[in-house]
Parts: sequence; structure tokens; C-alpha cells
Amino acid sequence: MNPTLFQDLPLSPLLQRGVAAAGYTHPTPIQAAAIPHLLEGRDLLGCAQTGTGKTAAFALPILHRLAETNRPAQPRFPQVLVLSPTRELAAQIGESFQTYGKHLPLRHTVIYGGVGQGAQVQAIAKGVHILVATPGRLQDLVQQRHVRLDRIEIFVLDEADRMLDMGFLPDIRRIVAALPEKRQSLFFSATMPDNIASLAKSLLTNPVRVAVTPVSSTVERIEQRVMHVAHDGKRALLQQLLKDDSLHRVLIFTRTKRRAELVTRELRSLRINADAIHSDKSQGARNHALDGFRTGRTRVLVATDIAARGLDVDDVSHVINYDLPHEPESYVHRIGRTARAGADGVAISFCSPLEKDMLRDVERLIGRSLPAEKSMTVASSVAAVKPPRPRRNERTTPNPNGAPRRRKRRRKQFAGTR
Ligand code: AMP
Repeated sequence: MNPTLFQDLPLSPLLQRGVAAAGYTHPTPIQAAAIPHLLEGRDLLGCAQTGTGKTAAFALPILHRLAETNRPAQPRFPQVLVLSPTRELAAQIGESFQTYGKHLPLRHTVIYGGVGQGAQVQAIAKGVHILVATPGRLQDLVQQRHVRLDRIEIFVLDEADRMLDMGFLPDIRRIVAALPEKRQSLFFSATMPDNIASLAKSLLTNPVRVAVTPVSSTVERIEQRVMHVAHDGKRALLQQLLKDDSLHRVLIFTRTKRRAELVTRELRSLRINADAIHSDKSQGARNHALDGFRTGRTRVLVATDIAARGLDVDDVSHVINYDLPHEPESYVHRIGRTARAGADGVAISFCSPLEKDMLRDVERLIGRSLPAEKSMTVASSVAAVKPPRPRRNERTTPNPNGAPRRRKRRRKQFAGTR
């Protein structure tokens, strides 16, 4: 039987206080299904995307078990390792441990690349129970022997599909090889293609399987539509849409960092508060952009897929796919940024003639066709606005987004973040 209230779950009173302070009363389906098994020490294979409450599903039982065993944190030897594909997601997981565990005497730290390692090394040297890490930085610190993984008791691999997309498989294998054989392992992935399933099989022993909101059943509450537009008309279409004040917190996705910058500059030139988030930005600039968006100072955040992974901002009113993604699964991740925490949301996808195949792939994945919106205002304004002047080095004719170079670029983009 699934517990209907958090207080029905056998979590320690101090942890229950942290959960209550976070404002949670009812466990989400993945929490209800996973927490009791994780408290018993079972391995878990979770098919769930962000927005389902999966972080608390693993963080709460971890905190509970650590509080029960009540062993002091040892310098350099964490007891729990959570691997996350991106810095943003790692930071958010760290915040979750902080929130839920604030009444418990447990220490955690978050390590990721792109910033100096000094403070991270110091935190680990003091001793932490829980280490949240991105794979690249973790490997660096393991090699330098600042951190040892041989006393890890619980290992969480979060967003495994994204890890593999980002080329992390060799890092994951090396990290897993450094873990003790005897451990509890939790494996989360939004999608479960064959390569992910076989990685899971190699890491888990007799796991409990929990699947919620499979990626093919796009969040029901989101109103989704597509607007067909010439490639050169996207800019004017966006400007037209943003005249409507009901688009008050808007997350825009572009396919490349360069296009994210371009769109941001264009919006700023129209005095629309906009900022960009992508992996070429320093950590400080990314945090600043995110804070501005969270607090409402910035109305529009323009992001690439990787940078936006795991973004947790409540009350995103609209997601706009300025470019459709190459991987249809990314569409589901993108639109999942809206309609969070019980709110309704709207997702609008711009589709140029060159993107029709991508639209078809998305529709196949979500199992339905997206209604096309024809806006006379927009159509006429598009006709009235001159297409953007081609910039130097920018292709204006077929394949303007560099599709064939995609894999190489993504690797390169990521290499800078490790
Ligand atoms: P996650 O899927 O872990 O990224 O969580 C998505 C969002 O749901 C976060 O903003 C969480 O704070 C929130 N959340 C997680 N569990 C609950 C819950 N049981 N009740 C209400 N909100 C929750």
C-alpha cells in the first residue's frame, strides 16, 4: 500500500521536520514507491525524469540511514556518493540534502568542475557523509587522492541517460570500479534504452523497479502547440509573442550556445530583460542568470539543453522551443520545466521547414500530434519584419544550426565544464 502522507513513512522525526519545512505533505508517486524499499537497503532502478520528486526519493532514505548508523564523517572518506551529469543539477541535489537534513548532524558537499578545487578539497578533508559530484571533477580529485571511494555505502547514479549522452560512460566505469562491491546502488534515468538498461544491470543487484511518468507520456497539464514559421521568421515571431504580458517567466531553448547568445542580445536590444545560460558561461555568470530568473528580475532565460538540465525554477509560465531538439527526448525534458509544482504551463515550439522531421520524431515519441497555431497577427508581423541581417560566419541557408557537427560540438562544449 502506498503511504498517502509523509508522516506515514517510517522516516525519523528530525527528517520529518525537514520535509515539513520544505512544504511537502504528500509523497509523490516515486517517493511513495521507492522510499520504503530504499530504507530496507534494496537497490533501485528508477525510470523517472526531473519534476517527479526523484531527488527526495533518494535523499530522504539516504539521510535516514546515515542518521541511524550515526557514524562521524571521516576525512576524505565519504559514505554516500551521488553522481550527477551537470553542475546545476549537482548543486540542486546538494540544496535538497541541505533542506531535508537541516535538523540532522550530517555533512555533505558538492563538487564540480569549472571552479577552483581548493574549497572542495578542504570540505572533503574535513569530512563529509555525502558527496555530490559531477564525474570529471570527482575523477580529478580521486586521482589526486583527495577523495577515496572505498568506504562508499550508498551510490546514486542520477540521470544516467544524460550521462551517457554526454560521453561519461568511461568515467562512470572507472568510478564504479573504485567503489566497494558491497554497497547499495540507486540508478535513475528518464529513458531506458538498451545501453542504459545494460549499464543498470551491471551496477545493480536484484533492484526494485520503479517507473513514473515515462518519457513518452508528456506531462499532461502542459498545453503544447507548434507554430510553423520560416527559419528567418523565428526572431519576429518571438518578439511578437513576448508582447503578451502573460508570458511572464519564459524559458527559451536554442540548439546552440551561439544561438542562445544571439537571441538574448536581440531581446535585450528590445529592452526585454533576458539572460543566457550555457556551458561557455562561468559558474558565477550562470548562477547570476539563474538567480535573476528565479527572482523575476529576468523575464526570459535562453538556454541550451545541457545547461538547462535539471533546472528547477517554479512558475515558469512558458517554454518556447526556438529550435526543436535533435533528440526527441530533450523535448520532454525541456517542456517539463514548466507546469512544475502543480502549476499549469504552456510549451510553444517553433518549427521551420527544415525541422519538420524533428517535429515528427517528437510527435512519435509523445504519441500525439501537436496542434498547430496560426496567428494572423504573428503571420502578418513576420511578413512585415525584415529577416535578420546575416552575421559573419553565419549560414543563412539550409542547415543553419550545424546539425552534422552536433556530436563533436557537444563533447567540446562539455569538455570545458569538467
Ligand atoms: P525533482 O524531480 O526531484 O527535481 O523535484 C521537482 C520539484 O518537486 C522540486 O521543486 C521539489 O522541491 C518538488 N517536490 C519534490 N517532492 C515533493 C513533494 N512530495 N511535495 C511537493 N513538492 C515536491
